[in-house]
Amino acid sequence: MPCCNSCMRDRPVHETFNGNNYCETCASRQLSTCSDCEVRFDSYVGHDYNVDGEMVCHGCGKNYFYCETCDSRHLIEDRYNQYCCNACRIVLETQLIKPYNYVPKEPKFYGKAPFFMGVELEVECDADSEVNTKAKQVVKILGDFVYLKNDGSLIDGFEIVSHPATLAQHKLLWNAFLDNPPK
Ligand SMILES: [Zn+2]
Ligand SMILES: [Zn+2]
Ligand SMILES: [Zn+2]
Repeated sequence: MPCCNSCMRDRPVHETFNGNNYCETCASRQLSTCSDCEVRFDSYVGHDYNVDGEMVCHGCGKNYFYCETCDSRHLIEDRYNQYCCNACRIVLETQLIKPYNYVPKEPKFYGKAPFFMGVELEVECDADSEVNTKAKQVVKILGDFVYLKNDGSLIDGFEIVSHPATLAQHKLLWNAFLDNPPK
């Protein structure tokens, strides 16, 4: 009896792909034509989407990546880092407080190896209207040593994240901030 290798039922073979038989139901459910290379593939085994959101085979999927920041697909060469495309990066650079998943492309290291530490300091303001003013004051004092991020656990605040630095460098770099923190 003809047998579908997918549902294992004795059904007429509708299509044979990669040495496996598919009944009509299984073929229409699982087999797709890649919209980039036009090759048939089993979408249950692996598939991806291209920039236009059309289904592509696993191989063609390697040309694309998903940007979490703008929630869409881009060609690999438009990738800035793991979380972000180049277009989003331009927007991000101008943002005072970055999204929670922001990571700088290159961390700056302050001091000499081997021991580096980072600080994440959560700041809660009295009101939402104060957040931007306080954030500007923090950046004015700490400069490029830190970047600011949103944090879901804060109500009207942000997180100050330092670049990696040795203990000696932290003691130096935080001085101005600790001596005169924004009030
Ligand atoms: Zn079947
Ligand atoms: Zn393909
Ligand atoms: Zn993006």
